[in-house]
Amino acid sequence: MLKSIIMRVLILVVLLLSAFGCGQKSDAYHEQLIGFGTLIDVKLWGVDEKTGREAVRAIDEDFKYMHFAWHAWNPGPLSRINELLPSGERFSAPPSIIPLINKAKEFATKSQGRFNPAIGRLIKLWGFASDDPPQGPPPTPDQINALLEKHPSMDDVVIDGIEMYGTNDAVRLDFGGFAKGYGVDVVIEHLRELGIDNAVVNAGGDLRAIGRHGNRPWRIGIRNPRGPGILASVDVEGDESVFTSGDYERYFEYEGIRYYHILDPRTGYPARGATSVTVFHDNAAEADAAATAIFVAGPEEWYEVAKSMGVKSVMLVDTRGTVYMTPDLKERIYFDVKPLPKIVYSEPL
Ligand code: ADP
Ligand code: MG
Repeated sequence: MLKSIIMRVLILVVLLLSAFGCGQKSDAYHEQLIGFGTLIDVKLWGVDEKTGREAVRAIDEDFKYMHFAWHAWNPGPLSRINELLPSGERFSAPPSIIPLINKAKEFATKSQGRFNPAIGRLIKLWGFASDDPPQGPPPTPDQINALLEKHPSMDDVVIDGIEMYGTNDAVRLDFGGFAKGYGVDVVIEHLRELGIDNAVVNAGGDLRAIGRHGNRPWRIGIRNPRGPGILASVDVEGDESVFTSGDYERYFEYEGIRYYHILDPRTGYPARGATSVTVFHDNAAEADAAATAIFVAGPEEWYEVAKSMGVKSVMLVDTRGTVYMTPDLKERIYFDVKPLPKIVYSEPL
């Protein structure tokens, strides 16, 4: 009798172990948090629940700090820099911002000026540096020209050791074009330090994936710039970031024209020609900056700017719905819209 009870208990233990013990290790851990004012979806693979929960708590702290430190208009290290730059006086450079300034300089150069995080005053003039939804009317040509004439540029921000200063009073830094990507890189690095090798950090459709989703790649959706739902889905595997810039994120309409938050630093107006640009890259900051820069470049110049930014895979949708893309994406993108859009393949990058 006792023997049979022991046997039954043993069998039950073995069954439970096989059902949960091994299964738990390969389970996906899923949690959502708010970072940079966006819903961030975190999926981890091959971690137990406790490790997952602690890891998400750790990166939640990272996001909170980055949001505070890099915010373009709330009080914090970046807004302090923006107050001090126009004076031309030297001041101590906050360590949390120096790496971003250096990245911003690099992206500005590589994009041949399409990406210019020194145009914060222009972004503010358009009403996009605000918690409130933007609304018209657009600024006057005189207001825009007054800023353009001063040619604000990242070259006007000088870092000298632990000090910095500005050389142009029209410069105001706005890292909105790549801060989210940079932040995603920071938290992915943090997850790796915690021993997590399979993860996706998805910040409102912009994401970086590392490792694998069990034994299959991650399948992600690219939003349809005109209409609800997704335009296409794509398989993401290994270490890859996918970032999209679109004219639908922040905009206002005035007298039938849509004015959105991606500005062409050469004209001072919203960049015309593209409705969305998706960039695939192994680094999220680069992908984010490149998506914005290539959006500014538009259907005429996208290939050239992608090349100078070191990007290998891009998809651009123009205002007529035509899709321009690099040929490597052919095998990976599945369009979800009918009829299929017209697709124009470029030479490989
Ligand atoms: P989102 O953050 O909405 O996904 P982007 O990554 O394209 O979109 O970033 C848009 C933000 O970048 C704007 O809100 C503004 O802060 C900033 N920005 C706008 N135009 C430029 C530009 N030409 N160069 C650099 N940053 C820009
Ligand atoms: Mg961007």
